[in-house]
Amino acid sequence: MNIATDISPTIDRVSSALQEWLATPRSMLINGDWVKAESGKNFTVYDPATEMPLASVAEGDSADIDIAVRAARHALEQGPWGRISPSERGRMIHRIGDLILENLEELAQLESLDNGKPFSVARAADVPLAADLFHYMSGWATKIEGKTIPISSLAAPGQYHTFTRSEPIGVVGQIIPWNFPLLMAAWKLGPALATGCTVVLKVAEETPLSALRLGELLLEADVPPGVVNIITGFGETAGAALAAHPDVNKIAFTGSTEVGRMIVQAASRDLKKVSLELGGKSPNIILGDADIESAIQGATDSIFFNQGQCCNAGSRLFVHESIFDQVVEGVSANAGKVRLGVGLDQDTDMGPLVSAVQHERVTEYLKSGAEEGARAITGGSAHGDRGYFVKPTVLVETNPSMKVVCEEIFGPVLVANPFKDEDAMLKEANNSIYGLAAGVWTSNIAKAHQISNQLKAGSVWINCYHVFDAAVPFGGYKQCGWGREMGQAVLSNYLETKAITARIS
Ligand code: NDP
Repeated sequence: MNIATDISPTIDRVSSALQEWLATPRSMLINGDWVKAESGKNFTVYDPATEMPLASVAEGDSADIDIAVRAARHALEQGPWGRISPSERGRMIHRIGDLILENLEELAQLESLDNGKPFSVARAADVPLAADLFHYMSGWATKIEGKTIPISSLAAPGQYHTFTRSEPIGVVGQIIPWNFPLLMAAWKLGPALATGCTVVLKVAEETPLSALRLGELLLEADVPPGVVNIITGFGETAGAALAAHPDVNKIAFTGSTEVGRMIVQAASRDLKKVSLELGGKSPNIILGDADIESAIQGATDSIFFNQGQCCNAGSRLFVHESIFDQVVEGVSANAGKVRLGVGLDQDTDMGPLVSAVQHERVTEYLKSGAEEGARAITGGSAHGDRGYFVKPTVLVETNPSMKVVCEEIFGPVLVANPFKDEDAMLKEANNSIYGLAAGVWTSNIAKAHQISNQLKAGSVWINCYHVFDAAVPFGGYKQCGWGREMGQAVLSNYLETKAITARIS
């Protein structure tokens, strides 16, 4: 690529400092230094709104993963990291959150350019939530505690003193996707640092830029060399090498269910610990007594936020038959008003999908829905002839065996179904290989809780949707993965429990 002549014109809309940053081939962060790939190769990162190059990035592979894992092992066992007090570690993590906020505008511009999402969304959600995550996790650094345990077997009272220590699990390999690039990096790095682990982070090939900028902020926060190593490269090479590396103690992965299975297979060779955050096909349920205006807005946002590229998107809408037509009309009217455009344009409500691959995947689903008899009330096709845009779509007249109903689309496509009988609806809502999230809209709070208890989902939102907080655990039932992100719950992903028994008399 000739970065000077072929670069996407959208770059003109960002600060000159960021333009210069983008024009410089980006290296990987290994052992505190910015380094090129061992192979010398780079790959091009594209702007999904224009399909034109944005930046050139090092193409890390198994050789670079190996060097990064060695750096992480050294940092864990011989570097200053293990000697830093928990409160100093906490302050360092807090400082990362502060630095993210200090660079909010620039990070939001970068995220919008790279992923395609509206700048306003990156500025209001992705970047501040990433900062929040580090701020929240900084508090845990001083609260990683064990227990004292009174034991009975073989022991006269008082003969032994038994206690547990919670120790960092070790060198962690983390593999993240492209839908919330900076936020996913924060979700992974925050708890790993709070628990005292060291990390090799493999970022998505589509959206590596904000994590590389975050790497610069980690150095500014004085995170010691080797504690966080950031590798850019492809899943089949760099990602697979990380998942299989014999000196990695744990893999934390977010992405597709298919690759999640590959990670488990690769990790099984040496029985690494694994946590997984995978797909979803979440039900959003509107009862007949719901506040209809807020339910319509909630249903709209639950599926179209982030171009529908959310694992927890409310992609299956169940509406009581008494208000079905009104709700579908309302959501479709909202969808029709959505302004598609370049993320950095002020009046853009929805950007492009992240890549040509994702665009093809989503439009194939739209074709299959039409072939199987689903009817599009609005949308139903790609938009424009440049950029990976898809029109926000509402499908009706579906049945549970259709691909659009049972498979994760990961695009702005809602499947709406009327229901009469609540029990039958709940059975259908739970009829999925996934169980990540769900929404319930009703003015009957007792009913809302009864339904929440019956839903097989890791998150249930009542009269709201997409409400995330660093303090609240997130993850799913069934094939959504293993373990939880965020909250106190995530810490166990990164800790080993050691029981120590001392004979004291
Ligand atoms: P992937 O699961 O392929 O990508 C997620 C991450 O895994 C990326 O960093 C990717 O690298 C890496 N990866 C890919 N193959 C391997 C491998 N063999 N070993 C180790 N790491 C690997 O998701 P896609 O980007 O292909 O998206 C496909 C579908 O996955 C979406 O349509 C959606 O349904 C789902 N998805 C779910 C997400 C979630 O939040 N749970 C997020 C993103 C996607 P690289 O980028 O180089 O491919």
